[in-house]
Amino acid sequence: MRDILPPDSARWRTLHNIFADVVEAAGYAELKTPIIEDVGVFTRIGDATEIVTKELYEFEDRGGRRVSLRPEVTASVCRAFAQHRPTPPWKVWYAGSNFRQEKAQRGRYRQFDQVGIEVLGVDDADLDVEVIALGWEFYRRLGLSRVKLIVNSLGEPDDRARYVEALRVHFESIGDALTEQSRATLAKNPLRVLDSKREPDFPHIASAPKIADFYSDAARAHFDRVEAGLEVLGIPFEVEPKLVRGLDYYRRTIFEYQGLTLDSAQNALGGGGRYDGLVEALGGPSTPGTGFALGIDRTLLACDDEGVFASLPRQLDAFVVDTTGGAEALALTAELRAAGLAVDRAFDGRSMKAQMKLANRSGAKVAVIVGTNEVDAGTVVVKPMSGVHGESTDQVTVPRSDLIPHVKEQS
Ligand code: AMP
Repeated sequence: MRDILPPDSARWRTLHNIFADVVEAAGYAELKTPIIEDVGVFTRIGDATEIVTKELYEFEDRGGRRVSLRPEVTASVCRAFAQHRPTPPWKVWYAGSNFRQEKAQRGRYRQFDQVGIEVLGVDDADLDVEVIALGWEFYRRLGLSRVKLIVNSLGEPDDRARYVEALRVHFESIGDALTEQSRATLAKNPLRVLDSKREPDFPHIASAPKIADFYSDAARAHFDRVEAGLEVLGIPFEVEPKLVRGLDYYRRTIFEYQGLTLDSAQNALGGGGRYDGLVEALGGPSTPGTGFALGIDRTLLACDDEGVFASLPRQLDAFVVDTTGGAEALALTAELRAAGLAVDRAFDGRSMKAQMKLANRSGAKVAVIVGTNEVDAGTVVVKPMSGVHGESTDQVTVPRSDLIPHVKEQS
């Protein structure tokens, strides 16, 4: 878990704002769910999912309830839907931290942030296309271009079940030639063997049955429409039959955005898909669902790699320097702030020189200087702070009553 310090923290907020702009313009509204949930909300995601079996921050609270820090938000959105029964379609977005006890490394942390959207109550393939396109648009707005979209379909639940069985038979016939880790995965979830990043498994994965051969007509038709929709919107994509995604609840369309500048073990910037059975599993009515979650930490690493979306903390309009001993700064700063300007000041009765140094370092556009002479004359001095070294240029004395319009002119 890490601290996100200024000025980097400003980038996180800007990124959240950009995301909100993109998805709110498509009819999504923000949903805030608790960071702690009953552990059952997450165990129902599936007991073959590592997030649930190995990585949950799970504990008993003082009331003796088994609770967990959320490892992701989709299950909470479905729990909220089952609980509040809003009228579908329900289009929501979220932003916040998730927690997984993973082995931390670059791009993989125990507390990490995601932004995401979920839609409950719509079965249409066009919605899958809308969701995928919104993630794509978000990356485009940030200025990222080295992003690859991969898509796949896991078929209808029956197709998926027949495929999983065929994979089990295939991988079991290989026996010890499969790596030990993959044999352990096979016992729990044959689909996840396709995810193996271990070289000795590759030939056996290549010769494995292909999901496309198991699609029912309905699953085939749905996936065809997703592909056609992405083509209509001009979004480049690749169909990747080995894409299965980490969570077990996915059905039909799944997708992932990969950051081409990142290491292959951590190159998933974000992803999602359809999870038509999840609301039901959480006690709600049978409801189709689609959505994605995008990792902010990795997105920012990709931005660094591509040299885009630099940190831009808000620039101060003015810095108040008071050489009267501190009698003026309080009211003057409040007056300027009340006029909508971004203003900071010095404290602790520092010398003029020390205050000017702080004014320089603050990055403010002007220093507003007031001393006893100015107080007597009803004026203030405004000194533009400019140049790479923060040297000031021509300062002017203005009547106190003209200060606000004068500072606004400079900013
Ligand atoms: P998931 O919820 O596992 O589908 O992950 C969606 C996205 O969240 C991933 O593509 C990552 O960008 C991000 N993510 C997941 N786990 C972590 C983690 N431990 N550290 C940083 N980012 C993560």
